[in-house]
Amino acid sequence: MLTKLINLLFSFLSSPTSVETYEISLSDYYGSHDRSELTPQDEENAVDLLARVNTLLRTLCPSKSFTVTSGWRPALHNIHIGGAKRSRHIICQAVDLRDLDGDLGSLLAKNRDLLQSLGLAIENPSCTPTWVHIQHPPPRSGNIIFLP
Ligand SMILES: [Zn+2]
Repeated sequence: MLTKLINLLFSFLSSPTSVETYEISLSDYYGSHDRSELTPQDEENAVDLLARVNTLLRTLCPSKSFTVTSGWRPALHNIHIGGAKRSRHIICQAVDLRDLDGDLGSLLAKNRDLLQSLGLAIENPSCTPTWVHIQHPPPRSGNIIFLP
């Protein structure tokens, strides 16, 4: 029980925001990190990514709100949390959304064509049990649903 509470508290503290949101804003995406580390290219990537992701979410789930569990990760933060060395989160090309029941993941997996038309790709939801990783552009393999 105590471990559960501590884990819950940790996931709350380590996420950039715990605010549910209808439209993912730049402030949701950047979280509390020091924005002076952002390059102009990072900022351009973030605006582009969120436009695509918000279009996706509004198209598929118009009345649902979402929580960003991991947005932009400054390089050092990415190391601290054990993120992939060349994670797209570092350059503002990826966002993770909370998906505790897996509903969003399976919905997205069923809408591969929409993802493709928006230039988006997701990690295979079976690899991301409590969140969904969405990125632009897709990985080099070109796979819209890919293994991390
Ligand atoms: Zn991710």
